[in-house]
Amino acid sequence: SSTTLNSDEDNINVVVRVRPLNEKERSCGDRSLLEYPGKGQVICTNTTPSQKAKVFSYNVVFEPEATQEDVLEYSGVKRLLEMAVEGFSCTAFCYGQTGSGKTHTLTGPPGLVESGASPYSPEHGLVVRSFVYLFRLINERPESNFILKASFLEIYNEKVIDLLNPGSSRKPLQVRWSKESRGFYVENLFMVDCEQLDDLFAVLEEGMRNRAVGAHAMNAHSSRSHTVLCVRVRRDIREHASGVTCSTHGKINFVDLAGSEMTKRTHSTGKTLEEANNINRSLMVLGYCISQLSDGKKRGHIPYRDSKLTKLLADSLAGNGVTLMDARDALILSLKREVEALQAENEHLRSA
Ligand code: ADP
Ligand code: MG
Repeated sequence: SSTTLNSDEDNINVVVRVRPLNEKERSCGDRSLLEYPGKGQVICTNTTPSQKAKVFSYNVVFEPEATQEDVLEYSGVKRLLEMAVEGFSCTAFCYGQTGSGKTHTLTGPPGLVESGASPYSPEHGLVVRSFVYLFRLINERPESNFILKASFLEIYNEKVIDLLNPGSSRKPLQVRWSKESRGFYVENLFMVDCEQLDDLFAVLEEGMRNRAVGAHAMNAHSSRSHTVLCVRVRRDIREHASGVTCSTHGKINFVDLAGSEMTKRTHSTGKTLEEANNINRSLMVLGYCISQLSDGKKRGHIPYRDSKLTKLLADSLAGNGVTLMDARDALILSLKREVEALQAENEHLRSA
């Protein structure tokens, strides 16, 4: 059988990265059950003799040997950054089970960013590499003046916490609708002016440290929360002939989603059940919004208002005055453990 999540004409690019087996898995005698025939396909051979191997199709597949630089280069994130500079709103999500490599792909091995490693360390993930690329794009456009602002928040149990202002964990921030800008925003969220690469890097480091503190207080916190790091890019272009300055406002969100296994855990009770429901809700609503948006033909009502995450991402999911058919403005990096069955997630995203 063959399952295709998204075809080439879609606005949403789905790429998959398969992480290598870790020490523990290898010592248990696990071996790869996946084959890579190219053309964005993965074949899962984890089947009984009577079943045929399953084929899954994505826009891009990263095999376990892929480097962090490969992910920046070939995932389509560079294109999103170019779009943000041109005034569009874009999002890159990491989706997958806990332990599949979401955080590793976004920010590198555990503790790397928090340790204050140089922004040019080869182990850095997509976020730091994107910052470097963003400054390259800016430096290539000396005729424009750029103003960058960054924010970093966490959504835990449908509560929004400012990772740059840890005091907010006691008093979660409100998500409100702005009549003027006709969009959702987070009230009192810290926005840090970033004039240089180090400023962006400092935002990431600060937020990651604060997230680690929160995670310490709550068991398995990070697998239950979503984080959204947002870089806003304002560009002022002066028309020399007329003396008029016009501005564009773009942005890029990097989203580290809660573990996708949370959508399956429905047997829990009490607090965990509430958590599971809330995480469930965000992931389900996100999956539903994406499937509606990516299907140009049956595009009906898109229920952004049904979760905090989709409210916050509404503008970048719907495009910024650009029809989605023309703009690849969201990207899903689906992270896999080698041995994980691929089917369930595919179905979840398709049919939520
Ligand atoms: P998640 O955020 O999805 O729960 P992590 O990013 O924390 O998963 O990854 C789990 C572990 O696997 C971490 O120790 C991480 O460094 C390691 N890991 C994940 N992806 C890779 C990779 N592509 N190469 C090497 N190690 C990886
Ligand atoms: Mg993680």
